Amino acid sequence: MNPPIYTLTSGTVPLVVSIPHGGAFLPEPYAGAMTPAAQIVADTDWHLARLYDFTHALGGSMLEANYSRYVIDLNRPASGESLYPGQTTTSLCPTETFRGEPLYGAPDQPSDADVATRVDTFWRPYHDALRAELERLRALHGHVLLWEAHSIASQLPRLFDGQLPDLNIGTFGGASCAPSVHEAAAASAAAMPFTSVVNGRFKGGYITRHYGQPEQGIHAVQLEMSQCIYMDETAPFGYREDLAAKIQPHLKHMVENVFAALPR
Ligand SMILES: [Zn+2]
Repeated sequence: MNPPIYTLTSGTVPLVVSIPHGGAFLPEPYAGAMTPAAQIVADTDWHLARLYDFTHALGGSMLEANYSRYVIDLNRPASGESLYPGQTTTSLCPTETFRGEPLYGAPDQPSDADVATRVDTFWRPYHDALRAELERLRALHGHVLLWEAHSIASQLPRLFDGQLPDLNIGTFGGASCAPSVHEAAAASAAAMPFTSVVNGRFKGGYITRHYGQPEQGIHAVQLEMSQCIYMDETAPFGYREDLAAKIQPHLKHMVENVFAALPR
């Protein structure tokens, strides 16, 4: 049986951790049309619900997608326009992996009608749930922090040069949150025993840019984490308890710091 489109755990404090690329499930009929390279879903943001498990103890909400980004990328606008014009990036319904391997055989590329079906089936329900949860918490508390949790392989020559910093904070140049929130994220990252950058290659995707409306009380911060700091970057992409134990307390502290910087 297919899983639900997303898993939402609702909390009580104004913190929402969104994991739009956490899903690894490839449903039929898409899976049957995809290549062997697609089937290993290498570009999943693996194990983030586990790494961010402390969210529940903090009283926050967690929203995680259950379907692979190869079906549809929830962190792209439904219109399909590029987030990084002029740069190599992946599309709403990707046709290649991050390494450039085709996801489909030549006759099986998604048609426009197929993309529209995927938007209705997978994209809208996630965004409807995210919007509703943000609005619920904003109504109760006035301001809410949307933490966009992502991770990616540390070396992907098609997408960026060399080794990615361990922690990549994105606030869309400071536009997606209040200055206090942006500064707390930057200061927390700088204080951690990991390499970091703010608004570097990853400035925040569609969700950060679209929902991050600080003047409306919604403050969005994206953290794109290098996968080498908590997991194996080759199949079967195992969680590394030994590595995760080093980053997880710092990650929790960072989320707490940024949450504490939310305007009241
Ligand atoms: Zn991601």
